[in-house]
Amino acid sequence: MIATHEVVDSAARRAGRVPAIERISSRVWAVPVTCDLPVRYTFAYLVVGDDDRFIVIDPGADTPAGRAQLLGGIDEAGLELRGLIGIVATHWHWDHMGAAEKLMADTGAWFGLHPLEAWPVEGTPAAEARVEAYSNWLAASGAPAEVVTELTNRKRGRAHEFSQHRTTLALEDGAMLPLPGRRLRVVLTPGHTAGSICVVDEDEEVLFTGDHVLPSIHPNIGAFEDRPDVDTLGGYLASLDKIAPWSDFQICPGHEYHFRGLAERSAQLRERLVGRLAEVAAARAAQPHASPWEITSGLRWRRGWEGLANSDREDALAATRAHLNHLDRLDPLDPNRSAT
Ligand SMILES: [Zn+2]
Repeated sequence: MIATHEVVDSAARRAGRVPAIERISSRVWAVPVTCDLPVRYTFAYLVVGDDDRFIVIDPGADTPAGRAQLLGGIDEAGLELRGLIGIVATHWHWDHMGAAEKLMADTGAWFGLHPLEAWPVEGTPAAEARVEAYSNWLAASGAPAEVVTELTNRKRGRAHEFSQHRTTLALEDGAMLPLPGRRLRVVLTPGHTAGSICVVDEDEEVLFTGDHVLPSIHPNIGAFEDRPDVDTLGGYLASLDKIAPWSDFQICPGHEYHFRGLAERSAQLRERLVGRLAEVAAARAAQPHASPWEITSGLRWRRGWEGLANSDREDALAATRAHLNHLDRLDPLDPNRSAT
């Protein structure tokens, strides 16, 4: 993989700041927007059409610093906020779209997401019901009672993760974004979330991948409380195939840095997931009655299971459940397993 911009990312990391705004191609700008996560920032991409009208793909987190970075980026790109006609979210996570609501109010821009993201985004069920669903999911997965209590309290304190937004444009698979003068196509790529999308910029040969494909981070592919029995892993693997036609394009992900070499990166992601699948299958065969939590705790982890905070164990558990769901799919005739 060619990743010269890895250097930019790591230099910024050492200096404790985010990289500068960057012009990716004649009508695409990447604006790093700070977020309070280990990845440090998300990219807001400004995509320009006719008459200096533009859209933003993933406006970022709703913080004063993030807003200043986004507005500063718009200015540096030689654009004006009143030219913003649309906002796209590649998926519902707050670090990517938290800023959308205020931006809509300020500009009247449309806000587009895939309809499958509506469950978390439009607040149905409301925040407290979501916390309850999450708590039930942990307990049903076999998490110890004290872990359920700790993580449920943590979730309740992170209400911004389910900030409610009004979607005004349903971005269906294959739709063209309404930006005059540009050909921007939506591709549904479920996996990281149920309705994650990529956007193909057919004019500039750029593929915006959100968290579907990142250059060095492995996106979490989990079966969380919003879809505990869904084969999210199978969906993800199919979604890697689905974007293969744009392998020669510049890849603009939601975090880290832009790169070329999608085919190689997709192969790495696939190889790791398939390897993990074999490990989960072996663990389940050895302990057929173990809970997902017990299976997860017995897998290999870089810092060991004991080295993982409970908040990391949550992601690990969701990933194991995704692998188990996929194994059920692969083995639908096993009477002890419910095929979904
Ligand atoms: Zn993200």
